[in-house]
Amino acid sequence: MLELLERAAGAGGGESTRAASPSAFGLVPEQLAERGCPGSVNNAFQRLQRPWTWTHVEPPLHQAAARWLVEHTDLRLPEVERDVGASDGTTRVVYRSGGDAFEAVHMPRDVRAPRVTMCLSSQVGCGMGCRFCATASMGLVRNLSAGEIVGQVLATMDRIGPKTSNQLSLVFMGMGEPLHNVTEVVHAISTLCHPLGLGLSPRRITVSTSGVVKGIDELARAPRRPRLALSLNATTNPTRTAIMPVNRKWDLAELRAALGRWPFEARERITVEYVMLAGINDADDDVDRLVAWLDGLPHMLNLIPFNPHHAAPGMRASSPERVSEFAAALHAAGCRVTVRVNRGRDVAAACGQLVVGAGSGR
Ligand code: SF4
Repeated sequence: MLELLERAAGAGGGESTRAASPSAFGLVPEQLAERGCPGSVNNAFQRLQRPWTWTHVEPPLHQAAARWLVEHTDLRLPEVERDVGASDGTTRVVYRSGGDAFEAVHMPRDVRAPRVTMCLSSQVGCGMGCRFCATASMGLVRNLSAGEIVGQVLATMDRIGPKTSNQLSLVFMGMGEPLHNVTEVVHAISTLCHPLGLGLSPRRITVSTSGVVKGIDELARAPRRPRLALSLNATTNPTRTAIMPVNRKWDLAELRAALGRWPFEARERITVEYVMLAGINDADDDVDRLVAWLDGLPHMLNLIPFNPHHAAPGMRASSPERVSEFAAALHAAGCRVTVRVNRGRDVAAACGQLVVGAGSGR
């Protein structure tokens, strides 16, 4: 599409100008207008945000708008460095933008109707240090911009699908802690939900956090509020602090209070993720504490079999039998519980395995 726009503009913007410019894919019509984009900003936004229109030259962007975009914005999508398909249909896509690599995972499902869930990165690397997570070994390199986050979605749709957005769901469970980059993530969500673009419902977008309470409160006030998921993984403060250092700042009581403040819609539930670690968080006492912690919270508890990897030596997955017993005990105590089927294991795209150079534990 960039080529198309450059042709339409009749001149390419200089590399140095583009490098310093904001990504065109992170600008909503109001921002295009404020910055001086001529012609119909709605038309320009629509053309940029709908990948299924990119191969068609008609109707072309207004010439002046195309020239303005080339000169005042960065029209480069994140570049695909490589994509690797798993035997279950999952594809792990490694992107490069601004010299840094990050990953998205494309997971087709065909339950009642064909659908795609895309797992997105919000940062390059991650600074949260969760001990069971491969991404943590990278440390935090930088935040992704809203344009890079939206660009991941559009580039993946253009390359692999789906063709239109009505089959698409998004989860921020790739590399990074989204609520440490909450301003860009919230803006990206508003852009992705814009009716002139993909027009996604915020109910089809889930943001997963390791427990950044300040960010949860900020996300609760977002104009397009997504669904919330929490990566919990322990039922006592000493254990949670040992495997998730964020617990030093916001402990289990503060976290539960923050979830209690979440402005639930009718039938909305918070997804609580729990990576099952043998001998660490899978005891019978953990069941009792988990039931008490979840009491009164509209939830869906998702038990996640641990994916062993080089960055978590000494951590072992709970056995499948133990995961089943744990789930059954929680269910009997009145919790809503599911066991996650891990996807993309053979291409290191499953939970806890994304690291560039191999995402995340959520
Ligand atoms: S689990 Fe999520 S928050 Fe924790 S280190 Fe991994 S990517 Fe970061």
